[in-house]
Amino acid sequence: MPRLVMKFGGTSVATVDRIRHVARHVKREVAAGYDVAVVVSAMAGKTNELVGWVKDASAFYDSREYDAVVASGEQVTSGLLAIALQEMGLPARSWQGWQIPIMTSDAHGSARISAIDGTAILASFAERREVAVVSGFQGIHEPTRRITTLGRGGSDTSAVALAAAVQAERCDIYTDVDGVYTTDPRIVAKARRLDRVSYEEMLEMASLGAKVLQVRSVELAMVHGVPTYVRSSFDDPADPQLGTLICDEDDIMEQQIVTGIAYSKDESQITLRNVADKPGVAASIFVPLADANINVDMIIQVVSDNNTTTDITFTVPAAEYERACRVLNEHRSEIQFDDLQGATDVVKVSAIGVGMRSHAGVAAKAFKALAERGINIRAITTSEIKFSVLIDSAYTELAVRTLHSLYGLDRT
Ligand code: ADP
Ligand code: ASP
Ligand code: MG
Repeated sequence: MPRLVMKFGGTSVATVDRIRHVARHVKREVAAGYDVAVVVSAMAGKTNELVGWVKDASAFYDSREYDAVVASGEQVTSGLLAIALQEMGLPARSWQGWQIPIMTSDAHGSARISAIDGTAILASFAERREVAVVSGFQGIHEPTRRITTLGRGGSDTSAVALAAAVQAERCDIYTDVDGVYTTDPRIVAKARRLDRVSYEEMLEMASLGAKVLQVRSVELAMVHGVPTYVRSSFDDPADPQLGTLICDEDDIMEQQIVTGIAYSKDESQITLRNVADKPGVAASIFVPLADANINVDMIIQVVSDNNTTTDITFTVPAAEYERACRVLNEHRSEIQFDDLQGATDVVKVSAIGVGMRSHAGVAAKAFKALAERGINIRAITTSEIKFSVLIDSAYTELAVRTLHSLYGLDRT
């Protein structure tokens, strides 16, 4: 029998009624002849609630116990869906990460899957034609026997990894939109649904803020060549639509220069004023930050006019802002800066497209269009298939809409 992995996110399993609706989608695929593993998220809002309780219990919580708590949301949904499937006459059982097992690193809160043993699930298909309902987001670190979680949005990664492990024909990620759009359809009404998007572009879009798929899930789909669809769970189970296929670039006929626009509010900016302009200064700033495991993204060094001091601006994730400032102040005597200025009300807006490899001047067009709307650019980065600008967060929607129109992405 061909195998299929279906994943349903939080909104898709928000109530018992919605879980019944999900069960109908599953029933259709079983009737079509697939052996099905279903990966489920916690009910909408549940993970946030659990995270809130942990933080309420202690600001300095043990991340191993954080995982024990937040993994529980998925356990509830997997059991409920198994019951709903049984109620429809389908053999089904729930599987927690540790029961499969889905083995991970011990990076609690953002663990990486190291291996999945698909034997037990494959046996349940072969012996009982039983639907495997798998809790997403969770795994086990075998040496310590501790439950782990894969980071927010991690059920996408569970699904793709499982699809690779059981050699599924494809992985269907069901969510609350009917595919991947040219930008977040919640902020641009004219966003267009893409029929296909390449692994590389999807990886950039996800990394640059499009939360429709967790970054790691796209990496795994690319590495293992898992054909992955993003589609809507809100469709009529009797009349399902395919959604967006994430696939090889070569399988896409019509290629735009820019495929999508993404934005991320998870950014903060730090500027060090009047840093001594001498060899080794960049190392004196960025080595301590790296040692503290703080990811630096955009970097700008102003050319000094007096050859003695310079200004250096860079971005770090908003969640790391306070820590980064602390680390820099601790190293102030080595770095020798006059002043540290920071901003957290910033957003990174990015345009992504494999067509940028072969076209010049794509980013320049954007700088002009943003300037015409009075949007000041604080920092810029570019790479082969994307460019990003850092701007004031108040202009997020205006900037995203401007770039979306500029590159001809608006739905007509
Ligand atoms: P789930 O709970 O199913 O995992 P998520 O909330 O994680 O769903 O992801 C779906 C959401 O991603 C959509 O509701 C949409 O607002 C957002 N999103 C952001 N960028 C995009 C995009 N380019 N295409 C589609 N959805 C996007
Ligand atoms: N429930 C987890 C979260 O909200 C995992 C997921 O939904 O993918 O982040
Ligand atoms: Mg998600």
